[in-house]
Amino acid sequence: MTTVLKLSNVTKYYGSRQVLNVEELEIGAGQIYSILGPNGAGKTTMMRIMALLTRNNIGQIEVLGEKVTWDKSQLLRLRRQMSMVTQTSYMFAGPVHYNVSYGLRVRNKSVVEVNKLVKESLELVGMSDFIDYPARNLSGGEKQKVAIARVLALKPRVLFLDEPTSSIDPTSARDIERYIKFINSELGTTVILVTHNLFQARRLADHTIFMWDGEIIETGSSEDLFENAIDKRTRAFLSGEVVF
Ligand code: ADP
Repeated sequence: MTTVLKLSNVTKYYGSRQVLNVEELEIGAGQIYSILGPNGAGKTTMMRIMALLTRNNIGQIEVLGEKVTWDKSQLLRLRRQMSMVTQTSYMFAGPVHYNVSYGLRVRNKSVVEVNKLVKESLELVGMSDFIDYPARNLSGGEKQKVAIARVLALKPRVLFLDEPTSSIDPTSARDIERYIKFINSELGTTVILVTHNLFQARRLADHTIFMWDGEIIETGSSEDLFENAIDKRTRAFLSGEVVF
């Protein structure tokens, strides 16, 4: 399996406090990973480091086959091949098509191509009727669909999802899950998902990474981890015996 992301001895401090310490993590191309663990375990920090949005203090990162030097031109090139969708996605003031086309326009795509990709992407998420609608007036679920349409238009190699459905209604959440699967299977995008929804993690992810107190304490295929976790903290968390 080709590796798209690799962390080696990655440590992150906030002030004098160590919040992340990952010895080794490899993310395989075309797979879906979920990152699980209690609040404050370091899930978002690790994801943001992988997305090159937060810089680690110690350690090596490889993204899409390149050792990360944090050089500006390298960052721009690598970030443009990755997208992130967060719990409440940021919408620019302006219509939906402006929001979906933004990333394409900064990548200097032609007007014809931009319009085609925006139209196709909105169709895929059932939001065509909203193309001229002010994006900031949409409901939470609709905004998340527009955020997914942006991803579909950009066709990133890696997609990071930070609790993408935790503030939307269950029906929209199931739609978003279908689109995530589609992006993974049709575009071959590698997906990394932070979620508090264990059912969602199990439904979507091929692999599960379990974090505790800034460290990865267990990782494996989702089926294995959910059925046969070895670490007692993982078992307690996954069985819902302990509410964190
Ligand atoms: P999780 O996503 O698992 O809830 P986070 O990665 O958000 O965990 O946070 C890990 C730890 O780092 C927490 O204790 C949090 O308070 C701390 N932290 C996160 N971001 C910052 C920041 N910008 N400044 C200081 N501390 C932070």
